[in-house]
Amino acid sequence: MTVIEKDTVARVHYTGTLPESGEVFDSSEGRDPLAFLVGHKQMIPGFEEELMGAKTGERRTFILEPERAYGPKIPEAIQQIPVSMFGDITPEIGMTLMSDVGPFRIASVDGELITADFNHKLAGETLQFSVEVIEVREATKEEVAHGHAHGPGGVEH
Ligand SMILES: [Zn+2]
Repeated sequence: MTVIEKDTVARVHYTGTLPESGEVFDSSEGRDPLAFLVGHKQMIPGFEEELMGAKTGERRTFILEPERAYGPKIPEAIQQIPVSMFGDITPEIGMTLMSDVGPFRIASVDGELITADFNHKLAGETLQFSVEVIEVREATKEEVAHGHAHGPGGVEH
């Protein structure tokens, strides 16, 4: 039986929660299972590590410290930008906007100065995942070459 290891494709249902508040930040519930190619950095590192050796039908629940999830919050990724740079947009706290260097959130608005947070919104967070393995199979040569899973729940092309 194929188990989850490098160069397999895993299809899983998952629910991610913040263990402190119980808030669900992401879930495949009501969607197709997520398909990913194992060992090719498609997923955060701890997610794959905790699923190594799992087989179809297996359920695993685990907690990831920020170091094995989205990393710590980096202070340098929080920057102050003059409001004039926003053009027609009126920045509001919590808003997510796109820039040349990626998405950022408005952390605070202080008159003419806007504090923009370029950290991933889950940076610095400890995450809990509950995962059910739906299917594990060997990856095709094409999937390994592309670095991602093909088919339902993966990349369709
Ligand atoms: Zn592809």
